[in-house]
Parts: sequence; C-alpha cells; structure tokens
Amino acid sequence: MKNIVILGAGLGGLTAGAMLAKMGHKVTLLEQHKIVGGSATTFKRRGGFTVEVGLHEMDDPFEETKQEIFDFLDVYEHVEFVQPKELFKVKTSKGTFVMPEGIDAAKKALKAYFDDAKGIDAYFTLISEIAHDYVRLQTITWWQKLLFPFAFRILFKNRNRSLKEVLDILMDNEELKLVLCTNIQYYHDSTKDFSILYHALAQYGYYSGGGWYIKGGSQKLSDHLASVITAHGGEIIKKAFVDKIEHQAKKVTGVSYKKKGETHNLEADVVVSNASPMQTYEMAGVDYENSKTLGVSLYTLYLGFSQNIKTVYGTGAYSSFDFSQFDSLDAYENSLSQPIEKRTKVFVDYSQVDSGLTEDEKSLGAICGVDYIEDWQGLDDDAYKAKKEALTQALITDLEKDYPGISELVEYAELGTAKTVQRYLQTPVGTAYGFAPTASQFFRTPESSSDKLDNLYFVGAWVIGGGFTPAIMSGAMVAKAFKK
Ligand SMILES: Cc1cc2nc3c(=O)[nH]c(=O)nc-3n(C[C@H](O)[C@H](O)[C@H](O)COP(=O)(O)OP(=O)(O)OC[C@H]3O[C@@H](n4cnc5c(N)ncnc54)[C@H](O)[C@@H]3O)c2cc1C
Repeated sequence: MKNIVILGAGLGGLTAGAMLAKMGHKVTLLEQHKIVGGSATTFKRRGGFTVEVGLHEMDDPFEETKQEIFDFLDVYEHVEFVQPKELFKVKTSKGTFVMPEGIDAAKKALKAYFDDAKGIDAYFTLISEIAHDYVRLQTITWWQKLLFPFAFRILFKNRNRSLKEVLDILMDNEELKLVLCTNIQYYHDSTKDFSILYHALAQYGYYSGGGWYIKGGSQKLSDHLASVITAHGGEIIKKAFVDKIEHQAKKVTGVSYKKKGETHNLEADVVVSNASPMQTYEMAGVDYENSKTLGVSLYTLYLGFSQNIKTVYGTGAYSSFDFSQFDSLDAYENSLSQPIEKRTKVFVDYSQVDSGLTEDEKSLGAICGVDYIEDWQGLDDDAYKAKKEALTQALITDLEKDYPGISELVEYAELGTAKTVQRYLQTPVGTAYGFAPTASQFFRTPESSSDKLDNLYFVGAWVIGGGFTPAIMSGAMVAKAFKK
C-alpha cells in the first residue's frame, strides 16, 4: 500500500484518487477550492438555479475505455447521463445545418446538404482510421514500435498535419469545411495548427457515440468520485492550497499546504499533481523550461431564465453554434483576432435535455466562446466589470436574433472570463485545456510520470489533452501504474 497525496481535485485528480483508494492505497486529496471537481462543478444562484460551470457535452460515457473505469468506480449506479437528440446545430452563411449523432446519419445529412459526397466519405474514412489506429496503439508490441511508420501508417502519415491542411486536401467547399470544424472551440482556436489526430479522435468519439450531459450537473460525477475516495478510507481536504512539493534528491517525500493561513506538512510515497508541470516543478523547486504553447481559455455567459425556454420557443437544438459571419476557413481564422463578440460561439440550451438544473418552469443556458487572458488584462476593477457588462449585453442582444424576446426572460446573468477560469482552477493563462493540441505538440508521449522526480505523477488536461474524457483517462493511467 502506498501513501499517495493528490494535489488538485479536477477530474484527473478525482479519477486517480478514486481508483487508487479502491485499489487499497492510502489517498489524501488536497483541493484549494471549497468544492471538488475543478471545471466539473456547479454552483447555486438565487432563483433555484444550479449553474453548470463547464460541461456542455461529453463524448460517449458508455464507450469501452470509459466503461471500464466507470464500472470499476460504480459510476453508472450513481450518475445519470442524458443525451440531446442531435450533436449540434450550426448557422452558416448560407443556412442552418443540424448534425445528427451517428457516423452514417452524419454522412447522410451532410451529403443531402453539400454536393461533395467524395470529400465527405474521405473525411469520415480518415477520422475513423485514425481512431481505430489509436485504439491499436494502446496495445502496441515491440515489433510494431520498431516498424511504427508501417504498422501505424495513418497515425504516422498524419502526425504533423493540421486540421486545415487535411480539409484543404480532402475538399473544396469552404462551408462544408466550416461545418466539420464547428465545435473547434472545445479544443483549440486555430484550424491552421490544430492537430488532425486530436480532431479526428475527439470528433469520431462524438459522431459515433453522441454528446451527453450529466443529469443534475457535472458536480454529480465529481462528488461521486470524491465519495469513492472517502468510502475507501481516503481523505479529502478542501480549501487546502499546496505550495511545496518536498523531495530528497530525486525522491518525492511529501507536500506542504496552506489552510486558513496555517502551513501543514504531509508525508507521501507518491505525489500526483493535477496542476500544470510548470506550477508543479516550481512547487518542487526543480528547473523546468516549458517550450509548449498553452491552450486557449473560454468565456461563459451563464443565463438563468424565468421560464422554461423549450416551453416558450419549442423543441430546438441543445448546442447551437454561430458561424454565420464566415464563408471560409480563412474568414473564421481572421475572426480570432477580432473583439470577443465577433468570434464564433455556442449557445447551450439545457432545457432541451432533462438537465435537472432547475425546476421545470425555469431553465438555464450558456453562451460560450474562445477567450484569451489578454482580453482582460490591464483593466482595473471598474473597467473589468464594465467590459464584462458590455459583453453580457452584446451576447444577449445577439441571442435575441434566434429567440425574440428572450432578454425579457433573463432572470440571472453572470459572465465568467479567462480570468475567472484562472482564479478557480489556478491554471496558467486561464487555459481550460492544458497544452494546446497543435500538430507539433499532440501525439508526443504524454508526461504522465515525471522524468525529473521519482514518484511524481501528472493527471488532468496537461497529460493527454483537455476535456472530460482525456482528464478521466489520465487519472486511470496513473492508477494503473500502481496496480498490484
Ligand atoms: C467553461 C468550460 C467549458 C467546458 N466544456 C467542456 C465540455 O463541454 N466537454 C468536455 O469534455 N470538456 C469541457 N471543458 C474542459 C474540461 O472541463 C476540462 O478540460 C477538464 O475537466 C479538466 O480536468 P483536470 O483534471 O485537468 O482538472 P481542472 O478542472 O483543471 O481542475 C484542477 C483542480 O486542481 C486544483 N488545484 C490547482 N492547483 C492547486 C494547488 N496548488 N493546490 C490545491 N489545488 C489545486 C484546482 O482548484 C482545480 O480544482 C470545459 C472547460 C471549461 C472551463
């Protein structure tokens, strides 16, 4: 049995902690916030609103790899997953396209809308080949490593390619390309350097298994994982900010953390960090020069409606993206340097699923888009508040175009920015996704175990990438390293 201290209760830390505790290790989890979950949390607001911090859609919770983890942790008995009826709706410069769930259905809908069956088939063949090669990679043999370019031809060929590069090869129709990139904001900003491998893995997962929400909010999953830790003798200490990782020579020996102004020390055989490598090595006093670019952040306008908007406006899409201002990938790219309200965004309408976030008469929504910390820097408190207020009004006014009269139904509105993400998650530049999944950065060996200190491990968005699934998988990767 190892004495394992985990720093940070995001999905990575919680999954690792729950699995390790259930495997019989002594787990202590330290979280600086008063609740567990990191991005996977909810908060309450007056009017009976349970506001979802981050989750819009996660990919298939019943897919094989997650199923193994969730079965082990009894997730399905305690957490209910609900599914929107379509993957997303996107407003393009020429009309509105609804992307259904399921590879065949998606191909059929795309072919009915766009006159490019060849390009559509080629795209889906490619993303499915990449996804299948990636599964094979999990059980790679020594001879396959030696012959990697031949044994994993598709991965090898595409390892340095960007999404835009590949789409430009496969098709000419710019509107079709935009539709295939619709939900890019959940991973990255630019199509020009976004790894085609990352895009393919994520999109294949969403197309084949659909997008899902957690009834009652993502906090349900986080709280359940926390309960597995405590049920197996582990301890969770909240409002505990870890500021030092102790080690003798290369061997990690413990951490110290601050709680209510007092410093506490904890011995550990193993330390698992849910923080970035930069912050982790700084806590350990170990030199680390980061050469990777960091992922983008997101702003979110949380909206509580005095009425259930599905009742008011009828059945509609759960996730609606707005690409109507762009007629090409280049126009989309140019918008990234424009003011926030000119960039693409999504409106998530939680009333379209049985979200459990409000009473039936009311509902919640969220408008979310790419954000950069620089958008908010250099402002004093008043200027920051004024900029937030202006963006809030601009976004609500924009929503009126699709939901006339909706501003009258807004009972609660609150904007979270990159600065908010930075404050609550402690992530550098407020990134929601760890390192940027660019073609030159993704698909390198994930740094799950430290090469600088013995018995130091990493979990969370910094390991495989951002998102619920990669964070959960990173936790399982560390737990498996301690399987007896
Ligand atoms: C607005 C938003 C929307 C999103 N939407 C989706 C979505 O729809 N689907 C999807 O799959 N993903 C989505 N994501 C991304 C996904 O939520 C995250 O990538 C994932 O949850 C990150 O998990 P993590 O393990 O890296 O931990 P994080 O969520 O980053 O949490 C890290 C935890 O560590 C704690 N911590 C850090 N430093 C310390 C310290 N020194 N001492 C103590 N505690 C510390 C923090 O307080 C935090 O609780 C979204 C993210 C955001 C922000």
